[in-house]
Amino acid sequence: MNPQTHFDLIVIGGGSGGLAGAFRAAAHGARVALLEPAELGGTCVNVGCVPKKAMWLAADTAQRIALAAQLGFELESRPLDWREFIVHRTRYIAGIHASYRKRLDESGIVWMPCRGHLIDAHTVENGDGARLRGERILIATGGRPRRPPVPGAELGGVSDDFFQLCDPPSRVALIGGGYIAVELGGVLQALGSQVELFVRGQRLLEGFDHELAADLLEDSRQHGLHAHFGHALAELQPAGDGKVVLLDAHGERSEPFDRVFFATGRVPSTASLGLENAGVALDARGFVRVDEWQDTSVANIHAVGDVTAGPALTPVAIAAARRLMDRLYGGKPESRLDFRDIATVVFSHPPIGKVGLTEQEARASFGDAAVRIYRARFRPMLHALADSPQRSLFKLVCVGEEEKVVGLHLLGEGADEILQGFAVAIRRGITRRDLEDTVAIHPTSAEEVVLMR
Ligand code: FAD
Repeated sequence: MNPQTHFDLIVIGGGSGGLAGAFRAAAHGARVALLEPAELGGTCVNVGCVPKKAMWLAADTAQRIALAAQLGFELESRPLDWREFIVHRTRYIAGIHASYRKRLDESGIVWMPCRGHLIDAHTVENGDGARLRGERILIATGGRPRRPPVPGAELGGVSDDFFQLCDPPSRVALIGGGYIAVELGGVLQALGSQVELFVRGQRLLEGFDHELAADLLEDSRQHGLHAHFGHALAELQPAGDGKVVLLDAHGERSEPFDRVFFATGRVPSTASLGLENAGVALDARGFVRVDEWQDTSVANIHAVGDVTAGPALTPVAIAAARRLMDRLYGGKPESRLDFRDIATVVFSHPPIGKVGLTEQEARASFGDAAVRIYRARFRPMLHALADSPQRSLFKLVCVGEEEKVVGLHLLGEGADEILQGFAVAIRRGITRRDLEDTVAIHPTSAEEVVLMR
């Protein structure tokens, strides 16, 4: 056995799931190789959560500066210098890359900056043509943005391209109504662009509470965002000066836009991975099929993260990978991720957070009679002081006689930070009485969760 080419575990993909799996397996004493041709950290660190949250923080700061002026601060109103801000964003991300490199070195993981391609169930060929042998293989190749198959689609960008922007476009079209469209649209609008959303369906943020999504839309409209629903995109055409127009299925033309971005979903990265050589099965939508143990159809090959059909979130990829490695190398045969009650946040302005069932899901599962909804609609103090119209809406979904809390939905300032603690409580199976018995922290937005009547 050649220790240069023979490993306990070969990890393909150095994003959230792959890195977490590699680190945890190495900590348990496994000899690990990691293949990643691009920057370490994958989507989240390079073109997802991290640069997105940086832009959200810039946009949030811009909104607070506007509120501060309303409250009597004398401020010179100047737009964000994007190039300067991008220097800070890039420096922050470079710090994450450096810390990953250091940890890889310290853990004794063999990191190869190249692609991996399966030759059979135990053999991976790296981009240099070298063959590696692994007792086990972890597929963690994530996903990539999907571009709709319409003529002229190449005139539009995807979320990866958003993070290449060095200056704010003045008129922007975003195609899609999911969380990426809402987040990127919100950032651009708050930083001074004129944004129009083109949504195929009839509402934003399918899968989130409908009332909260409607309130967010109303709030965004007050900030100048335009949203078109039931829009069937047929074509993109050049309109001179680098501008682009959209044509819908009825031949209706939009006004010209400086930039168009698609936020029309993501597809798993499985092309040219050689999965067929090892017999790894895909599901009908092209995701790697895994069971609740992250095992694929081949006994020694596992998969985590966005390449599988689970919730496409960084902490999900990380948690699934760590539990898998605890099971395979850490002597915990029952270790696996429980996918129930995973909290998630949309970094809109203001943010939306959800954990558990929506009102619609609870009614469908338990019947109308068993479901009780509590709401709190209020103006957060800063907005009340500044006489800004922004409102928060919190909703609690309870079921049964004992009013077990099965869902919590927050729209409003601080929702992103408030939700985590309540997610723990909801996983522990609390009832509304537990919330009622908890003394409030005053004056905060969070207290509304325990005060809902
Ligand atoms: P990835 O992080 O995508 O990593 C996969 C890696 O595999 C990549 O680095 C790729 O280069 C590599 N790879 C691909 N093919 C090969 C191959 N053949 N050989 C070797 N390597 C290969 N999630 C959140 O939790 N919170 C957020 O706020 C959030 N915001 C997001 C915003 C945007 C705009 C986007 C696009 C995503 C966001 N996500 C967010 C989702 C999150 O980024 C993903 O769920 C997460 O990155 C998935 O991790 P992963 O390890 O499965 O894949």
